[in-house]
Amino acid sequence: LWHYEYHKIYEDAIKDGLTGLLNHKTFVDRANEEIERAKRFQHNLVFLMYDLDKFKRVNDTLGHLYGDYVIKTTTQIIKDNVRTIDLVGRYGGEEFAVILVNTNTDAAMTVAQRIVDNISQYDFLMDEEHVNMTISAGLSEYPNDSDKLLELIQHADEGLYKTKDNGGNGVTIFTTGEL
Ligand code: GH3
Ligand code: MG
Ligand code: MG
Repeated sequence: LWHYEYHKIYEDAIKDGLTGLLNHKTFVDRANEEIERAKRFQHNLVFLMYDLDKFKRVNDTLGHLYGDYVIKTTTQIIKDNVRTIDLVGRYGGEEFAVILVNTNTDAAMTVAQRIVDNISQYDFLMDEEHVNMTISAGLSEYPNDSDKLLELIQHADEGLYKTKDNGGNGVTIFTTGEL
């Protein structure tokens, strides 16, 4: 195979086809590497899980292609708000996972909330159809919440569900519930 063919096969294997983000498996592999690095250099990581609110309605009313457009645009908004060293993955259909490297919760909250605000303020427009969207997020932190990837993702997910319970369009920091 020519070099560019290898390159394409490699890209297809690690990246999500629609968005170009890390796919689920690659995100998990890279996340584990980040945790190892964070252990070695003793820095923090912040995990963010995002899920678009009432996304199914977009597919149902405007069609799957419009849904794809919303997913791609959301990807761009997330990428515009993080640094190149941060990880962004397409965790599921309309679910995005982000790792902010060497960042504390305070600084991460600013980034996480800015993404939420940018989505809610964005005028989605394709084929002359305007739509407003919102997104929900949850946040967990290595090593304070856990030092295990699955738990960190689970905790961020719990924050995300709490945001959904409160009507969406926000960020919730994971807490053990003792407070
Ligand atoms: P909630 O507010 O609770 O998050 O509800 P929701 O409607 O956003 O979530 P739900 O999980 O019910 O729907 C997600 C939908 O996303 C279901 C699936 O058909 C759709 N989906 C998944 N992947 C893609 C994709 O690549 N493109 C499009 N257009 N739709 C997708
Ligand atoms: Mg959703
Ligand atoms: Mg979902």
